[in-house]
Amino acid sequence: MIPYSCQFIGEEDIEAVVEVMRGDRLTQGETVPAFEEAVAQKVGASYAVACSSGTAALHIACAALLEPGDIVWTSPNSFLASANGPLMAGAEVDFVDIDPDTGLMDLVELGRRLEAAPANERPALVIPVHYAGASVDMKHLEALADAYDFGVLEDAAHALGGRFLDEPVGSCKWSNGCIFSFHPVKSITTGEGGMVTTNNWAMAQAMRELRNHGVTRERDKFKRNNQPPWAYEMQSLGNNYRMTDMQAALGITQLKKLDGFVAARNEILETYRVLFADLPVRVIPVPPNVYSAAHLAVIRLQEASPEQQQTVYEVLLANGVGSQVHYIPIHTQPYYERLGFMPYDFPNSVQWAESVLSLPLYPLLRDDMQYQVRKALCVALDEAGLA
Ligand SMILES: *Cc1c(COP(=O)(O)O)cnc(C)c1O
Repeated sequence: MIPYSCQFIGEEDIEAVVEVMRGDRLTQGETVPAFEEAVAQKVGASYAVACSSGTAALHIACAALLEPGDIVWTSPNSFLASANGPLMAGAEVDFVDIDPDTGLMDLVELGRRLEAAPANERPALVIPVHYAGASVDMKHLEALADAYDFGVLEDAAHALGGRFLDEPVGSCKWSNGCIFSFHPVKSITTGEGGMVTTNNWAMAQAMRELRNHGVTRERDKFKRNNQPPWAYEMQSLGNNYRMTDMQAALGITQLKKLDGFVAARNEILETYRVLFADLPVRVIPVPPNVYSAAHLAVIRLQEASPEQQQTVYEVLLANGVGSQVHYIPIHTQPYYERLGFMPYDFPNSVQWAESVLSLPLYPLLRDDMQYQVRKALCVALDEAGLA
């Protein structure tokens, strides 16, 4: 069975984790700040704040950037956390439909929506999702953010190692912050884990407190004077979203392999483009000015019904090839339906979900396995009546 994704763990990763376990700090030691520093350096951001997951990263970044009741717009073609993060921070969430070519938030549609909305219904924050590893057009988004005065938080859970206009994703050159996930299917892994990068010191400070119960131990920030030496102050409502030092050690050794991982992923994706050239499928394109982190190999089945999509999925599986649909549109989930969203509020995302499949893509996917994927795909398209 070839899964749609899978991590790459080397001996050096294992040794780094074991070394932390032999030491005396499993959490709140020196390895987490070292990993933060390494990520900040890698992406060219001033600050990086590690936490327990990409979801936690979205939550603390939103909590740092938003007031309760603020409006946030994101993409429906994403993992649930892109919308749940702002909701957990007390925001109101709405969506902007996607470009039917790339699956990324449609920035022309965003511009239309911004223009049409009365000032009090415009977002305080927009969360673009760098779907499949490809950055959205950050310059276009920045121009809209300047014109309509909203903040930008990049959901780059797919895009560590990618670039826009030759700037690493995460540099926050055109945004207030950027979040990453280190779940095993992402560019690099810490098992579970996340990170926010930013160039804003106050935002970084706020997030460091929010991941640690809203507590500060810095005496010059204390609200009360003459506190005993053991004092700490809780000044906001936070959580325990800390990353462990074992995870950070894994992150540090994984990060050294990031460029190689992303290059391998891009190479496989290019091979797929060639291998599938004669099939009735379209490997989604990478937009201009983008070096993709090649997180997903998304194909669009041409002229296929949802039933045919399901047949392709099932026959692939029967032939030892795992695939996935990225994504069931967030707004169609029962929870979001209860908030008042209807499937056809964002029709492009619904049509996308009914015609895409993500095929296996990860650094360990050998040539012969890529051929096996092609073979299984041919059989599946045939059985679905699409070939
Ligand atoms: C994986 C993912 C997240 C959440 O990350 P976790 O580490 O799993 O919490 C958020 N957004 C997107 C787009 C993701 O793919």
